[in-house]
Amino acid sequence: MRQRFGIGYDSHVFGAKRPLVLGGVQIEHDSGLKGHSDGDAVTHAVIDALLGAVAMGDIGRLFPNTDARWKGADSLEMLAEVKHRLMAASYTIVNVDVTVVAEKPRLAPHINRMCENLSRALGLPPRAVSVKAKTNEKMDSVGRGKGVQVYAIASVGGA
Ligand code: MG
Repeated sequence: MRQRFGIGYDSHVFGAKRPLVLGGVQIEHDSGLKGHSDGDAVTHAVIDALLGAVAMGDIGRLFPNTDARWKGADSLEMLAEVKHRLMAASYTIVNVDVTVVAEKPRLAPHINRMCENLSRALGLPPRAVSVKAKTNEKMDSVGRGKGVQVYAIASVGGA
C-alpha cells in the first residue's frame, strides 16, 4: 500500500450570529464563525488535508460557496462526502491529526467530542483521529480572539 499525505489549513473569523461549531461540536461562545457553511474550520481543514493527500482539489472546488446547497451546511456531512469519494477511488484513510489555534473559548473540554465526531464521519477508530487545541499566547489577531486557525494533516493509503 502506497502511503500518501495531505496538509490542510483553514481560518475563520468570529462575528456570525450563530453557534460556534468546531469539529461538529457546538461550543458555548458569544459569537459563531463566519462562513458559507456552518463555519466549522476544524472539519474544513481535515477535508482539505484528505483532498490534498489524494490530489482531488480542495474544499472550495467541491463545495463552492456559490452553491446554495452548502449554505449553513453541517460540515461533517461535507466530510462524509469527501470520505465517500476517497472510498470510491479505493483509498483508505489511515489517520488525521489536527491543531486548532484559538485564544477563546477554551477548547480543551470539547476535544474528545470533536475526535468522536470526526472518527464517526470518517469511519475511523478513535486512535486514528487526533485533535489538539492551542492558544496563540495572545499574539496577533488570533491571539486577540478575532478568529481561529486550524492545521491538519492526513495520511491515506492507496494507489
Ligand atoms: Mg472554511
